[in-house]
Amino acid sequence: MIGGGYAGMAAAVELARHDVSVTVFEAGRIPGGRARRVEIGGIALDNGLHILIGAYRETLRLIALIRESGAPLGLLRLPLELTIHPHFHLRAPRLPAPLHLLAALLGARGLRISDRLSAAAFIAAMRSRKFRLEQDTSVTGMLDAHDQPDTLRRCLWYPLCISALNTVPAEASAQIFLNVLRDSLNGTRTDSDLLLSTLDFSALFPEPAARYLASRGGVVRLGTTVNGWQQSGSGFRISTDADPFSHLVLAVAPHRLNTLIDGHPALADIAQTVGAFSYQPIYSVYLQYPAGSRLPFAMGGIEAPYSQWLFDRGRLCGQDGLIGVVISAAGAHQELEQDELARRVHAELSARFPGLGAPLWHRVIAEKRATFSCTPGLRRPANATPVPGLYLAGDYTASDYPATIEAAVRSGIACANLVLEDQSLS
Ligand SMILES: Cc1cc2nc3c(=O)[nH]c(=O)nc-3n(C[C@H](O)[C@H](O)[C@H](O)COP(=O)(O)OP(=O)(O)OC[C@H]3O[C@@H](n4cnc5c(N)ncnc54)[C@H](O)[C@@H]3O)c2cc1C
Repeated sequence: MIGGGYAGMAAAVELARHDVSVTVFEAGRIPGGRARRVEIGGIALDNGLHILIGAYRETLRLIALIRESGAPLGLLRLPLELTIHPHFHLRAPRLPAPLHLLAALLGARGLRISDRLSAAAFIAAMRSRKFRLEQDTSVTGMLDAHDQPDTLRRCLWYPLCISALNTVPAEASAQIFLNVLRDSLNGTRTDSDLLLSTLDFSALFPEPAARYLASRGGVVRLGTTVNGWQQSGSGFRISTDADPFSHLVLAVAPHRLNTLIDGHPALADIAQTVGAFSYQPIYSVYLQYPAGSRLPFAMGGIEAPYSQWLFDRGRLCGQDGLIGVVISAAGAHQELEQDELARRVHAELSARFPGLGAPLWHRVIAEKRATFSCTPGLRRPANATPVPGLYLAGDYTASDYPATIEAAVRSGIACANLVLEDQSLS
């Protein structure tokens, strides 16, 4: 396995569960890839503030599987609640689906009756066509075609689209957005739950997964970058190891894939497909306020030029007074120096939450290629490649989902199943 992010670790855990011994090569010193701990001045931050939802079934299954006995699950489960402070608030009551959604829309604060009816009519129309479009288009194009009013777009559809697809609605795939709505809002009531991590994202899954592997004869080699591989008999040799492996799973981010497949003519089509991807950033701005500073929620949004979603790390992880702010997708924030961006984010927060005081320190973490741009009709490669025994795992492989933890985990599991099938045939 090359890559110890969520996809690679999911593939490895699934194989280990079936008693296959796995070696994971991970370039970083901390596993997790794009969802990992970043230690700054002795404080554990995340490279990105992540949200999981109840519909992330495979992620939740594996987190539960590898959890050591007595260890906390590390996730705070909340019923669907969307806050765009102070003018919009939607909360799903504990009713069976889809009544919970209907009740949430009907009871939402900040929408006119006509907005609520438009939202309900849109969801009903999508349900009747099983959330499938004949032809993919942009999210904006789809909302135009269904006469979705401005308030609804600003408070509901656009924030959901940007946080799920990390792509602005004018450029985002309507079909992938509908897939997310189908699985989150149209499944069981708990599918729409929000799950917020009380641990950092390396401690949530990749680190206990590494211990799970070790207990089953596997190994994770951190700080080990693989520079190339060759076919050797019916298996593979890689640059860092003399011993051959029966199978090879490339579980690296899409922008790293081509350095590992260039020069392999059978993989030229995959290289071209992934080479055509464009990428979107996600910025995380951390502001340490004096101890005792609190937001009115663990996670919620504000409508502001820069800040989108705010996480109260005091409430979530016991990091008193630490507020994390997410800015997804491309935008004007990319033009600013990091100190200036932090200053403006602080100004937006203090305008809405005057009790916060002045930050003691700040840190901006810019992930410039956080995810691929999730555009209409994007071609994504399959897990299987034309080279027997060589598989691709990652959030970018063909699936119903945008670049998310669940897409990465499902892709890893799909690769593990392909390896298991090979083994059962041989
Ligand atoms: C800031 C940010 C916020 C996000 N927010 C959310 C969210 O709220 N919810 C959500 O579901 N998703 C979110 N995502 C997306 C999610 O983090 C990714 O989809 C997921 O982590 C991708 O996992 P992966 O295993 O496919 O790839 P990666 O995490 O990129 O893993 C690839 C691994 O391969 C390693 N590697 C690369 N090249 C080599 C090599 N040559 N040799 C050895 N190792 C190598 C890398 O070091 C890395 O660890 C966010 C992403 C970011 C960046």
